[in-house]
Parts: sequence; structure tokens; C-alpha cells
Amino acid sequence: MPFGTYKEVMALKAKDSKITGVSQDGGVVTALLCYALDKGVIDGALVAGKGETPWLPKPTIATTKEEIMAAAGTKYTINPVVSVIKDAVREQGLEKLAVVGTPCQIYAVQKMRLYPVGARHIPDKIALTIGIFCTENFSYAGLRTIIEDHCKVPVDSVTKMEIGGGKFKVKAAGKEVAIPIKETHKYEQEGCHVCSDLTAEFADISTGSIGTPEGWSTVFTRTTKGKDLLAKALADGIFEKKSMDEFKSPTAPPAPGKKPIKTGLDLLEQMDKQKKDKAKKTFDERKAMGLFVTPEILY
Ligand SMILES: Cc1cc2nc3c(=O)[nH]c(=O)nc-3n(C[C@H](O)[C@H](O)[C@H](O)COP(=O)(O)OP(=O)(O)OC[C@H]3O[C@@H](n4cnc5c(N)ncnc54)[C@H](O)[C@@H]3O)c2cc1C
Ligand code: SF4
Repeated sequence: MPFGTYKEVMALKAKDSKITGVSQDGGVVTALLCYALDKGVIDGALVAGKGETPWLPKPTIATTKEEIMAAAGTKYTINPVVSVIKDAVREQGLEKLAVVGTPCQIYAVQKMRLYPVGARHIPDKIALTIGIFCTENFSYAGLRTIIEDHCKVPVDSVTKMEIGGGKFKVKAAGKEVAIPIKETHKYEQEGCHVCSDLTAEFADISTGSIGTPEGWSTVFTRTTKGKDLLAKALADGIFEKKSMDEFKSPTAPPAPGKKPIKTGLDLLEQMDKQKKDKAKKTFDERKAMGLFVTPEILY
């Protein structure tokens, strides 16, 4: 099944302009976390906060809306969020924790729930997982090189970075620089090349930008918990909602010699398949070289 198991898929945008003013896409992650905190569904969230080094995220235990808002926006490098789960539970005494992470991090959290090796008392404290779509990630050194050497922008002047439409884009001091995504491939984390999960298939709720126009998010609910929380948030008017049918691929045949244009869920499905095929290819290459591979991580 493309995109893993899910209950519903829709396009959403947070109504609170304070949230959409700082969020990466439709502000679904930040708005849902703030809503869940308000309603007592969670008492804290593990997010990618700002650290001292520009654009190097710091795994952060956010217990207020201000802290959640301060962590909005995508940082295209690793935020080792799983490393602070124990602190959140054992030192800060949180009982209902939300975890925001890339698909691999959500996978790790779910694995921890099923096989809590060295993580006693943790699984039942995880109240919500929100997964963000992820095609690839970069090391911090790689990210800096992309920004400073390829985009020719000082990393500390960047206000937003974004990947979309085959480009890596940075906004800095009122200007926007876009470079072909091809230029960034060599800075990708090696480990991402065996990753076959684009849409965070193991989260309660998954969200990303592919499939919806700028300022909106594509959202999957995957578990009863995720579905119920989102239904309540929708009933309380937290989001504007559209059907994914609004973003369907054009039905007109492509111009001669051109490929059909894919949009909406068709585009997401195509990218999901590309990621799975690429992971399988890398997996087979590694196996042929006699390198260690874990078949279970391909799905
Ligand atoms: C490395 C990476 C690659 C991505 N690739 C794609 C892609 O190919 N296609 C796509 O549609 N979407 C991708 N996304 C997701 C997208 O950029 C947005 O994060 C997502 O759409 C949520 O937007 P939002 O407005 O709801 O989030 P916001 O309300 O802005 O909140 C974003 C949340 O993500 C957390 N976060 C930020 N950076 C990281 C990080 N490095 N690791 C873990 N959590 C983080 C923040 O703490 C915050 O809670 C990627 C994200 C990352 C981190
Ligand atoms: S591509 Fe996969 S392994 Fe790499 S950061 Fe994204 S989810 Fe994790």
C-alpha cells in the first residue's frame, strides 16, 4: 500500500497566523502540539529547538506553547530527538509525551515501545508521535557547505530553508537563492540511502509538504489516537481543511514528447516509490559487496 497504513488523508493549514508565520508548511505540527498541550493530551513535546550554532537543531523538551512555537520550521540536519526521551520521563517526570521526528526516529520510538531494551517505564509515557515526511537528510557540515559554498549565503543570515520542485532554497536577508537539488546529493547522509520510508509510516499522524500547495500540508492519520485527536482539533476550528482531490493531477493528456504532470497524492506516490526503489537498489549493492544489511528495514 502506498504511504503505509492510514485512516484518512487530507490537506490542512493552521488558522492561527502566529503559527503559520513561523511554521515550515501548514503549521500542522506546531498547531497540533499546542492544541494537544492545551487539552491535556500531552504534557510535553520533544522537538528540534534552536541551539547556539545557527541551524544546528537541539533536541528540546518543550513544555509550553512558546517553546513549541520556538522550535517550528525545518532544520535540514539531524536532531537526535530519541536521545532526550529518558530525560523527559525520568528527570522531568513527564507522563504524556509527544515526539516529533523524521520517519527513522518514529521507527525508533515504535521499536522502543515494542522492545524497550534499556527503556523501562518509557513506552507508556509516549502519548503521541508526529512524523514529518523525509526524502533525505544532511550532516551539519554538509548542510553548511550547501548553504555557504553552493548558495553563497552566510549560514547565520538564513531565515528559512526549503526543498521542493527539484530545488534547495534558502531565504536570507530579503533574498532567495535556489540551487538544483542535484548539487546537494553528495552531502546526503549515507544512512539515508537505505531508508525506504518517506511518509513516516509508523506515526500516529504524519505530515509533509509534497502533494499540497505552498502554505498547506498533506496529513495522514494512521492510528485511532491520531484520528481522534485531529477530529477534535478540526471540530474546534484549529485548521482549514481541503480534500486531497482538489490537488489531483491534470486529466488533460501531456503535450507531445512530455511526461504526464503529477500532483497531489499521485506525486507523493511517485516520490514514495522512488525512495523505496532507491533504498532497495542500495540494499542490493551493499549485499553484493558483502556488507551488512538488515532486510527488515525495507518495506
Ligand atoms: C530532514 C528533513 C527532510 C524533509 N524532507 C521532506 C520532503 O522531502 N518532503 C516533504 O513533504 N517534507 C519534508 N520534510 C518535512 C517538512 O519540511 C516539514 O517539517 C513538515 O511539512 C511539517 O511542516 P509544519 O509546517 O507542519 O511544521 P512546523 O509547524 O514548522 O513544525 C516543524 C516541526 O518539525 C520539527 N523539526 C524541524 N527540524 C527537524 C529535524 N531535523 N528533525 C526532526 N524534527 C525536526 C520541529 O521541531 C517542529 O516541531 C522534511 C523535514 C526534515 C527535517
Ligand atoms: S531519509 Fe530516512 S534515515 Fe534519513 S533522516 Fe530521513 S527518515 Fe531518517
